[in-house]
Amino acid sequence: MPELPEVETVRRGLMPVLQGAVVESVEAHRPDLRWPLPENFVERLAGRRIEAVGRRAKYLLADLCGGEVLLLHLGMSGSLRVEGAPARGPETAFHYPRHPAGPHDHVVLHLAGGASVTFNDPRRFGAILMVPYDRLDTHPLLRNLGPEPLGNSFNAEYLARACAHRRTSLKAALLDQKMVAGLGNIYVCEALHRAHLSPLRQAHTLATKAGGATLRAERLVTAIRDVLREAIHAGGSSLRDHRRVDGELGYFQHAFRVYDREGAPCPNFHCKGHVRRVVQGGRSTFYCPACQR
Ligand SMILES: [Zn+2]
Repeated sequence: MPELPEVETVRRGLMPVLQGAVVESVEAHRPDLRWPLPENFVERLAGRRIEAVGRRAKYLLADLCGGEVLLLHLGMSGSLRVEGAPARGPETAFHYPRHPAGPHDHVVLHLAGGASVTFNDPRRFGAILMVPYDRLDTHPLLRNLGPEPLGNSFNAEYLARACAHRRTSLKAALLDQKMVAGLGNIYVCEALHRAHLSPLRQAHTLATKAGGATLRAERLVTAIRDVLREAIHAGGSSLRDHRRVDGELGYFQHAFRVYDREGAPCPNFHCKGHVRRVVQGGRSTFYCPACQR
């Protein structure tokens, strides 16, 4: 399942192709993904200009002229394929070859100028919606999201305050999208390892008795930002290698330090521990009991 860095990588890959582009025509090969496609989707989108491509948590947001936003979620298995894009500066200095249409190509946007963007999603947990721009913040999918982990309002004071009265594990608190938006299982495990904090630790121990930030909260915010930034950076590199081949945006392989590395020696300097797997809230947690406290 793509997490925030993967979605941000997709956004950066789409931007040079979509920003300022006019949607000439739309193909929809089925009426629904996870939810039904927007009413009159094909007619409503055709002829619209895409002003900007943004992101909120794991949602891609394409601002359309006329005050609507195309909201796209990759779900469990979604990816986007850019084809036929003309060279426009170094980021798109590749001409993507055309592929034969695949069985899971559900939606295709044909852009003026000849490029196309195809949404492929074998498991169909992805979503495409159209939302009026001024109702974006109050939309049910977005209104309860906490701050962006890379944004200014996510800091140690905020995190400590938000955790101060929580009697849950740190892992569960960080996966709560109201606490911080867009973090998933993989990057929570990686960030806790870097911050030397146990995923089993009680969330409220990030706050002092007065509700202020502890050093733990500061370490954790730094670790979260670092793992996300590094993953986005790695995604950018892999994008540049990968897009030359087939223009597909969606997945790339990372070297994780603890995630999915049960039994491996802890990569922290001077630590003699080994990565352990436990199940929390029905999902695997990977951590080093020797250096994460
Ligand atoms: Zn360790």
